[in-house]
Amino acid sequence: MKRVLLALATTAIVAAGAGYLFRGEIALALMQRTVERTMATNAMAELPDGLHVGLCGAGAPMPSPNRSGPCVVVIAGPRLIVIDSGTGGSRTLARMGLDAGQIERVLLTHFHSDHIDGLGEMMLQRWVAGANTAPLPVHGPEGVGRVVAGFNEAYALDKGYRLAHHGPDIVAPSGFGGVAVAFSVAGGDVVVVDEGDLKITAFAVDHAPIEPAVGYRIAYKGRTAVISGDTKPNASVETHATGTDLLVHDALSPKLVGLLEEGARKAGRGKLAQIMHDILNYHTTPEEAAGIAARAKVKALLLYHIVPPLPISALEGPFLGKAGEIYSGPLLIGIDGDFVSMPAGGSEIVFSNRL
Ligand SMILES: [Zn+2]
Ligand SMILES: [Zn+2]
Repeated sequence: MKRVLLALATTAIVAAGAGYLFRGEIALALMQRTVERTMATNAMAELPDGLHVGLCGAGAPMPSPNRSGPCVVVIAGPRLIVIDSGTGGSRTLARMGLDAGQIERVLLTHFHSDHIDGLGEMMLQRWVAGANTAPLPVHGPEGVGRVVAGFNEAYALDKGYRLAHHGPDIVAPSGFGGVAVAFSVAGGDVVVVDEGDLKITAFAVDHAPIEPAVGYRIAYKGRTAVISGDTKPNASVETHATGTDLLVHDALSPKLVGLLEEGARKAGRGKLAQIMHDILNYHTTPEEAAGIAARAKVKALLLYHIVPPLPISALEGPFLGKAGEIYSGPLLIGIDGDFVSMPAGGSEIVFSNRL
């Protein structure tokens, strides 16, 4: 018996040693297989027909390891649309197995830097890696033209480099950058997309003094979702969210931001403390978002634009406060990669994370 055990232990040690010695070769073989599989996979085609909403960025301006800048991916049947393009959005999208080359259009909620600072990279990825031959349509309220023109100009030199290096047959010049599609919600809601089974409506929210600022309601084959954008608790969000499957809502904890304000003040950083104080008045608390979700009778609530970062999960309780008592449905504090699937022709809501 002892001999058998000794032989087994020796074999295990030799195998572990060989594995360690050849770890580079093993890793290369694994990489080859993974690359081949990834390149050949179309994740979109593997999803059931329906409405899918994911977080390519669950965070806000403050850095967080698992929450990139605000970015929501909406997949409606064969169409991939992105709402807001915060920093890291296209990279998170790729890590979720989704191809920036397949982005049909981007919808912006407003032009705060954290919502647009990944747009240049997203347009570039869609053009170069995705081999698109037409620019990316970027919809937004008045002002979107300046934003898109600015990014196009900032990337103009890079466009020249890509063309010189790869040639126009590989990177068609016509696919460079973005094209702005402006709308105005001054006179009421605007239907941004109404094609086939997909309808997307923009509506004004209250992010004063930032104007315009909008949220979006998406409907596809009987499944519905509302993305609040940045807003104070707002009756319009509640109205548009009424009876929908999913509400993706902005969430800021005044209690935790208060700690940042206090810390900044104690450190003698008065201006930073004032900024922490100012941001309290144009966002929604988790408890307020829960109230909206409860009154609107939404089937699930996904909090995003999480402020401040929550570096340890034990902070989730203090962040939520009483939100879980106010809203009895599924309530998630979003992280990057969260993915909510709502298959067409049913009422099922499936939560997963693609990272
Ligand atoms: Zn924001
Ligand atoms: Zn904002």
